[in-house]
Amino acid sequence: MLQEAQKTQSALGHFNVSDLVQLKAVFEAARDLNLPVLVGASEGEREFAGTRQLAALVKSLREEFEYPIFLNADHTHSLPKALEAAKAGFDSIVYDLSALPFEENARQTRAAVEALKSINPSMLVEGEIGDIGTGSTIHDDAPRAPQPLTTASEARQFVAETGVDVLAPAVGNSHGMRKSMVTGHEKKHLNIERIREIKAAAGVPLTLHGGSGTSDEDFVAAVHAGINIVHINTEVRLAWRHGLEQGLAAGGKDEVVPYKILPYAVESIREVVGGRLRLFSNLPVAA
Ligand SMILES: [Zn+2]
Repeated sequence: MLQEAQKTQSALGHFNVSDLVQLKAVFEAARDLNLPVLVGASEGEREFAGTRQLAALVKSLREEFEYPIFLNADHTHSLPKALEAAKAGFDSIVYDLSALPFEENARQTRAAVEALKSINPSMLVEGEIGDIGTGSTIHDDAPRAPQPLTTASEARQFVAETGVDVLAPAVGNSHGMRKSMVTGHEKKHLNIERIREIKAAAGVPLTLHGGSGTSDEDFVAAVHAGINIVHINTEVRLAWRHGLEQGLAAGGKDEVVPYKILPYAVESIREVVGGRLRLFSNLPVAA
């Protein structure tokens, strides 16, 4: 799927889930468009939903519908957590030691690549360099001081030293959304030229983390410059909450049937995911 994305200058959408409502919505949105999709779960999301349980749910969708849906262990910070996800049957992992100094990050990521491939040789391992902040939530503080972007030479060196299949650089992206982004008054902007340089130097598929709140134009340009996976989490969480509030309001205070309330959340997420998938796949975005 990633090789195909590189050939067609498109990107796979990656959407985080921590419950069945989100998973159902992401799967339905992808099926509406007949596009492959990546589902991600961070350490916290896995802890809530269950690592093996999530793997079983995604596997059941893939098998029953013969559908290209894949499960990624997002932002995994320790080898035991990475091995747990690999043994549970996750298809890929983001091994994130980006908070460590570069050389230490490279050394430990290389060891993790070897350990993970020994469990499942076809598992994809993504490494991460640069600081893009933490927390796929609503941030109300002042803008972060601009962090240094990943350089092309760092990207080349990191991929060569670690053997990662996929690289996540810092190119102006950041986790979470500020309130001004939720209202649409502000958009994130990416350094497209830097993406192009990193792509040429790294020679592997690139992931853009922290995609929520990025301008449509920058997404399209970034994908054409070499991004092959785009992570969206905060926008999914926002849609989940809005949909849930609608469902609770629509049912009135005596409504207690989950399958009457929760379809509003599914619908709300499905709409957001569908719009993003269209954009990443160069399909016309519905008006
Ligand atoms: Zn991320």
